[in-house]
Amino acid sequence: MSACPDPRTIIEHLPVALAVARATDGRLLSSNRGFAALFGAPATLGMPLTDWLRHADAGDRIGPPPDWPAHLAALHPDIRPHDSVECLLRGPAGPLHIRVQLQVADGLLIACFVDLTDHETREDILRQALAELETRSATDALTGLLTRRRFEEAAASEMQRFRRFGHPITLIMADIDHFKLINDRLGHQAGDRVLVEFARRILAECRDLDVIGRYGGEEFLVLLPSTPLVGGLTLAAKLRQAIAAAPFPDAGPLSASFGVAECQADEDWHAWLHRTDKALYRAKRQGRNLVVAAPERHDQPHAHAELSRLDRLGWEDGHTLGHPLMDHQHKELFTLAQALLEMIRRDGPTADLHVAIRELAHTTERHFRDEEALLGEIAYPRTDQHMKAHRLLAAKLDALSSQSARGVLPAARLIEFLAYDLVDHHALGPDRDYLPWLDGRTPETP
Ligand code: GH3
Ligand code: MG
Ligand code: MG
Repeated sequence: MSACPDPRTIIEHLPVALAVARATDGRLLSSNRGFAALFGAPATLGMPLTDWLRHADAGDRIGPPPDWPAHLAALHPDIRPHDSVECLLRGPAGPLHIRVQLQVADGLLIACFVDLTDHETREDILRQALAELETRSATDALTGLLTRRRFEEAAASEMQRFRRFGHPITLIMADIDHFKLINDRLGHQAGDRVLVEFARRILAECRDLDVIGRYGGEEFLVLLPSTPLVGGLTLAAKLRQAIAAAPFPDAGPLSASFGVAECQADEDWHAWLHRTDKALYRAKRQGRNLVVAAPERHDQPHAHAELSRLDRLGWEDGHTLGHPLMDHQHKELFTLAQALLEMIRRDGPTADLHVAIRELAHTTERHFRDEEALLGEIAYPRTDQHMKAHRLLAAKLDALSSQSARGVLPAARLIEFLAYDLVDHHALGPDRDYLPWLDGRTPETP
């Protein structure tokens, strides 16, 4: 049997940091390897343990620094086993989170130092601090766009103006499609260059007053002052095109998806952002590379005082031409367009939408036929141009209808057609031009 090892050898090699002091005056007598490894140097022998602890104190992140003399005085001589204090002590590579356990035995004060530092956490703290710094600065270091915080500040002031003056404001949220694949295939640096180019393309399409921010990793927001939903959809369509039309220098062809929402009365920032984000999510779900309009909130009465262009789809008496057949058919078209719009707002089934588009196409066709016959009868001099406009509209409607049959018709495109092409540029435009030629004629009944 081998001889019992010297207790000093055991203490020296114990895988914990230990220091031993004289109990009567607290002066340090020795420290072990673990101590030197943890603090970068052995304890200064002869120094009171309390002085060493004060000297090694690294700050008060875990609470106020312990009052070591009082603490030790309180412990001694009736020290309880496992008495301990948690503190931050200076280590060779930064602060250490240490639990100091103190015991008195045989006239000796034994201090055991347990390292509780989570080295991962320290990196996290650094990362958090950097992210915090980033949000404090006005612009995002990578893209030069507004940071999330600054964007939200700008949004808050635009929302105040919206409440005061009632000008519509619209938000676009963009998210690059399958961006993770770019990082995975080409690496993060290539990914970063894509983000810079993406930001550049968005910036190029926007106006000076638009507020543009990088909201998260590869999510971007554009806030459009004095712009209703339709305007937002139009810009989003341009942005989508700007991304998809030309390949990216590093990554080749890419696309992005877009959600668009107009701010509603009594809607706060989070509700508005949430609706925009939901629309973006739908764009992703419907196959990406798409623009999707957010429906209005159903629990809200009506959006805002100023009528958005879409509300012009409602029939008004001012739209009457005084020709019963034409008025009847125009009214019918307005009603069908309105029903379609409601369907989009409620996010109705694609099949229903397609049936409604087909019906709109048939009704439009019949109306064009009757109208062209009428123009001939009244010898309207611009009949040719009018017929050309009809052919163009019919072709557009045809294209929309076949897209909807395949389930690939973006709601934004349909809304644009209804609001701009059919109502603004046809029913409220050229169709009113032949009004003077109708005068003096006997109205026909439908
Ligand atoms: P989806 O079409 O559904 O949007 O697919 P996705 O791959 O784009 O999915 P998601 O939006 O969830 O992924 C975003 C990825 O963007 C995850 C993250 O690794 C990456 N990312 C976030 N910030 C940065 C950045 O600053 N630089 C780079 N290179 N990548 C980033
Ligand atoms: Mg993405
Ligand atoms: Mg994303």
